[in-house]
Amino acid sequence: MNGAFEYRDGLLFCEQVDLTEVAARAGTPCYVYSAGALRRAFGVFEEGLAGLPHLVCFAVKANGNLAVLRLLAEAGAGFDIVSGGELFRVLRAGADPAKIVFSGVGKTREEIEAALQAGIHSFNCESEAELMLLSSLAQHLGKTARAAIRVNPDVDAATHPYISTGLKRHKFGIDIAEAEQLYVRAAELPGLALEGASCHIGSQLLDVAPLIEAAERMGALVERLRARGIALRFLDLGGGLGVPYRKDDPWPDVPRYLAAVRELAERLQVELLLEPGRFIAGPAGTLLSRVLYRKTGGGKEFLIVDASMTELIRPALYEAHHEMLPLRQPGRGRLVADIVGPVCESSDFLAEEREIENLLPGDYLAVMTAGAYGFVMASNYNARPRPCEVLVEGGRWRVVRQRESHEDLVRGEEV
Ligand SMILES: *Cc1c(COP(=O)(O)O)cnc(C)c1O
Repeated sequence: MNGAFEYRDGLLFCEQVDLTEVAARAGTPCYVYSAGALRRAFGVFEEGLAGLPHLVCFAVKANGNLAVLRLLAEAGAGFDIVSGGELFRVLRAGADPAKIVFSGVGKTREEIEAALQAGIHSFNCESEAELMLLSSLAQHLGKTARAAIRVNPDVDAATHPYISTGLKRHKFGIDIAEAEQLYVRAAELPGLALEGASCHIGSQLLDVAPLIEAAERMGALVERLRARGIALRFLDLGGGLGVPYRKDDPWPDVPRYLAAVRELAERLQVELLLEPGRFIAGPAGTLLSRVLYRKTGGGKEFLIVDASMTELIRPALYEAHHEMLPLRQPGRGRLVADIVGPVCESSDFLAEEREIENLLPGDYLAVMTAGAYGFVMASNYNARPRPCEVLVEGGRWRVVRQRESHEDLVRGEEV
């Protein structure tokens, strides 16, 4: 664990707050985030890059809660957005527009215009057609759009296929072999300041070697472009650092990674941008749930809980593993069970064949490392209201997003 969540006298705490109290008062299912853990994780980047011209842009798609975004903005973070909705969120949270980068393979005209009006730091463009549209919209608005081309460095991130993005066959970015030609063509486009290069090879990387390999290939590209008279001023190396979802997983060697990219940025004399999402928010959050029923069937034991794939889809979507901890250690021994939710899908499980404390209906459990790609992927499938979100700060906690009501479920609909 990262220090934010620990047992005290058999009770699971987040910072100085007893999570049983949160579960009882806020209700379950409920996401809980530690302000201290968010700040510490962000601080790892700031410390590792101190003195270097840099911008750490939190990837909003990992956790878009306004209170989380505000906290990170106050700590000095920039933001990596992938939609107009995320732009709206970060501006609402009080972000400095000059620290926002806009990524994504399918930006619409309206989204690009909104970002130009806001005056964001830069656009990470993923196709020639997008560069041309950006150029024409910027001219139209009388602005200059700072841009980078998202390059696909063809490095195998060796992660789950659904979260690997850096191979030639993926939809993301421009093949590094074709990028140089595109830079030469796009450098002429009016309304554009093509000053950067960006990449993002995938997510949940516990080994930093592929990230460093990608950074080096990007550095070599910057040098080749310089030789052709295209002088880039910033290099955005994306996100991707993983977190230990299993208690025996290692942490990625972040100091080694930061030292390597820092050395590269110093050598190239470019501003360095990073876009960590999961690493900052993942370990800082947990999903609280209550056991509804227990049953046995087909020689299996099931714990049916009130959280499901609609709150946390990662197990169903990526076969992801999350540790499960009881909020109180009941000391009744252990059992092996499938931990499943109420949703009518066989893929609705949080854990399969998991050894866990012998929990009974009414007991609470915490699904750990759920702060990233948790709430943001929540859905209303089965007409389930999305859960509330709580932020813990020292000995205090507050609801930073209310649980949805049944009225919320039908908002905007007509009979
Ligand atoms: C998803 C994404 C990130 C964040 O990835 P993490 O693995 O959460 O750090 C950063 N940049 C881009 C372009 C992304 O798509």
